[in-house]
Amino acid sequence: MKKHGHYCKVCGRYRANEKFSGKGHASHICKDCTKLPPEVKAEQETLNRLFNLPWHLSKAQKSWLKNRTQDRRPEVKALAQEQYDMRFGHRHQDMQLDDFDDFDDFDDLDEFDELDEDDEME
Ligand SMILES: [Zn+2]
Repeated sequence: MKKHGHYCKVCGRYRANEKFSGKGHASHICKDCTKLPPEVKAEQETLNRLFNLPWHLSKAQKSWLKNRTQDRRPEVKALAQEQYDMRFGHRHQDMQLDDFDDFDDFDDLDEFDELDEDDEME
């Protein structure tokens, strides 16, 4: 008999096998968490997923994480933002050099006076 228990993806704990119903084993949700309202389960699961993200994200994980930073659930959003910033940092290099239009103050070229040719030669 295994002693390792079984991972619950909602509360994020390893729990004894008896804490899982047959169906719970398959869905990785313990008996306690099964009773939770669906939105709580979903949120907990999302938070656990955020906690357990690997350092190097696949493209899919990265876009999933990025979407979570827009999540309507404040806790999810905050944790996602934290995880995202940890990996990708603050983007200083997004500064834009768009104020360089002020360089049209060319000096007006003085018009050359036409030289009066005093023809003194006689
Ligand atoms: Zn659980």
